[in-house]
Amino acid sequence: MPVKQSYRCWAEVDLGALRENLALIRHRVGPSVKVMTVVKADAYGHGLKQIAALLMQSGTDVFGVANLAEAYAIRSVGKGWPILMLGACLPQETETAVRDGVSVTVSSLAEGQRLSVVAQKLHKPALVHLKIDTGMGRLGARPDEARELLPQLQSLPNLVVQGIFTHFASAESDASFTQRQRQLFQKVLEPLLASGNKPEYLHANNSAGVLLEPESVFNTVRPGLLVYGIIPPGSRRIPKDLRQHLRAALSWKCRVGHVKHIPAKYSLSYGRTFRSAKPMRVATVTAGYGDGYMRAGSSRAHVLVDGTSCPILGRITMDQMIVDVSRVKQVQAGDEVVLIGRQGSAELKATDLADWFGTIPWEVLTNITYRVPRVYLGGYAA
Ligand SMILES: *Cc1c(COP(=O)(O)O)cnc(C)c1O
Repeated sequence: MPVKQSYRCWAEVDLGALRENLALIRHRVGPSVKVMTVVKADAYGHGLKQIAALLMQSGTDVFGVANLAEAYAIRSVGKGWPILMLGACLPQETETAVRDGVSVTVSSLAEGQRLSVVAQKLHKPALVHLKIDTGMGRLGARPDEARELLPQLQSLPNLVVQGIFTHFASAESDASFTQRQRQLFQKVLEPLLASGNKPEYLHANNSAGVLLEPESVFNTVRPGLLVYGIIPPGSRRIPKDLRQHLRAALSWKCRVGHVKHIPAKYSLSYGRTFRSAKPMRVATVTAGYGDGYMRAGSSRAHVLVDGTSCPILGRITMDQMIVDVSRVKQVQAGDEVVLIGRQGSAELKATDLADWFGTIPWEVLTNITYRVPRVYLGGYAA
């Protein structure tokens, strides 16, 4: 076991699962389509450098990041991979972005001009992807502006438009709005495709798009959550084969710290929100909101002890929480407790925690704090 016995709360990342998930995505979109793996926010909490190394070895084509520090971390693992910063490039970041050769998202002529000026000064090309706002409303030029904007950008000195992209607002739940977004994007692309003046990367699909929108693959896809083996929750039905074959890469564990019996009418934890109706056996376990296990899960969430689902009783505290182990046969201090992952035949998913916490799996993963060591299994990590 590579997991240190002294760990109180840790995450295990199965690199084999990541490799397989990427292969599955590739199989789904076809061999001629490039995959931009999104690794923002410390690779969705999995650990950026290790995940970047694995994805490089597994043949990712491009990385998607949120900021330049993330791009820098990727470069420190391996040079040469194209990187797109998905957020806007701040004026104060322009020089670093151009110097580091990071492609940035551009929504306006002003941004392009700023980049071009810096690029001329540094004698380096500024690399950009033009974003089109087809309905997300966050970044991007309006489709009607785009027709004029693209040639203007393309004529700026030292500026290279490497890609054009858009982002879906609700591909996991709203087929008709997603179709409208796709059509708006296609309208922007049509004249380009006809003229042959086409940037290298054309992309729209996030994870939900990869699963549900085969018509908007273009020539590049941009999955995040799916790479980590999690299906974006939503009301649209996901093809069964994908549901079955994806594997969650991250498991999250802690330990039993203390086991005791409590009598009836005994209250537990801060605020005394739980009061026992009958005598019970409870365990205090070594994870809390200081590890990123969200307090919103108090009296709602469950953990696994000895393969049994055990409800959390009362408030989750910073470093500990109390669970009902009355139904567990074997339990003692030091035993492993599963917060996310499998134990015996039982499994808890990030989406289960998201439901209990009243949030989404993206937040569950990115909320796991620095205090939780990430342990890498089954691969050659950096
Ligand atoms: C985060 C992000 C993605 C990846 O989203 P998932 O739903 O995790 O696949 C793709 N594109 C952009 C612009 C993003 O910000």
